[in-house]
Amino acid sequence: MGHRTLLSFCSNDYLGLAADHRVIEALQRGAEQYGVGSGASHLVSGHCTPHHRLEQELAEFVGSERALLFSTGYMANLGVITTLLPRQGTVLEDKLNHASLLDAARCSRARVQRFRHRDYARLEKMMQQANAECLVSTDAVFSMDGDLADLKTLHALATRHSAWLLVDDAHGFGVLGDGRGSLAANALAVADNTVLMGTLGKALGTFGAFVAGSVEVIETLVQQARTYIYTTALPPAVAEATRTSLRLLQQEDWRRQQLQTVIDLFRQRAAEQALPLTESTTAIQPLIAGSAERALAISRALEQDGILVPAIRPPTVPTGSARLRITLSALHSEQQVQQLVDALARAFAEAP
Ligand SMILES: *Cc1c(COP(=O)(O)O)cnc(C)c1O
Repeated sequence: MGHRTLLSFCSNDYLGLAADHRVIEALQRGAEQYGVGSGASHLVSGHCTPHHRLEQELAEFVGSERALLFSTGYMANLGVITTLLPRQGTVLEDKLNHASLLDAARCSRARVQRFRHRDYARLEKMMQQANAECLVSTDAVFSMDGDLADLKTLHALATRHSAWLLVDDAHGFGVLGDGRGSLAANALAVADNTVLMGTLGKALGTFGAFVAGSVEVIETLVQQARTYIYTTALPPAVAEATRTSLRLLQQEDWRRQQLQTVIDLFRQRAAEQALPLTESTTAIQPLIAGSAERALAISRALEQDGILVPAIRPPTVPTGSARLRITLSALHSEQQVQQLVDALARAFAEAP
């Protein structure tokens, strides 16, 4: 097998922090000081100073009373939904929610109801009919479409019906709301009934996740969330690297500005080429190809042109909406975006 270098448009490293030398050095220093592994779960002896500091810094950044680290976003969602809702409760989910939210609802053994994508009138009907405590969960930025949940409406609905609102901000944290995430972008507080889940493996460029919320929410998770209690704590060096990322993303506004510049440029140039853009305004820019075969053919043609964009096919997305899921980054240059659009125009024109 030969090696070829491809220009990638499929990483979630939106701000280009994953390979930043200062983040790498923080990881190295952290490993020298604390070793590679944490050695145990948080509650036994795995919880180290870097975890503690990172939790405080995350809480301060997103404006919550507290934050709690989890090893992955998948486990964080599982922890929140299985813990906050009693078994006789109801989980209400947007149909396009991330798989981890859907799996979490299933594991909770609560009743699960799914509403059509962003159909909040339907959601309210479901809330009125539920005769037990409800938890509404949503992606803030939908992972395969890049469009946004209407968090103001969801927050108002959840508050009116005394329901929990779990916001999965995997693709908004670090990017939207000056980096503070989608709730901050909507001037909504991470407090009371509102719980934020942010991941660290995307815009922050490291690994892991956190849940932010009130003292009561976090205490409940510490006491009861099995995906927090029964698993090894993140390596402390990863927490150190993440602290550096968190500082850089606050200090270096140019990263979010450059990301916005390449998003705007991509949309403008793709529109000029009549490519099938969606309404997404975020770094996730899908182009709908139709059949799985067509999406694959386009992806292969791009690869021939030295560009890596995977085809996302059913069951990850609904049948007939197989797509090229393009993600943009602060490290893309305007010239690279032009190269992408030129290759896409050729590939879409030539695909059967
Ligand atoms: C990536 C992702 C997750 C899972 O996060 P991991 O840390 O990778 O487990 C959860 N929700 C959404 C919307 C995601 O995109």
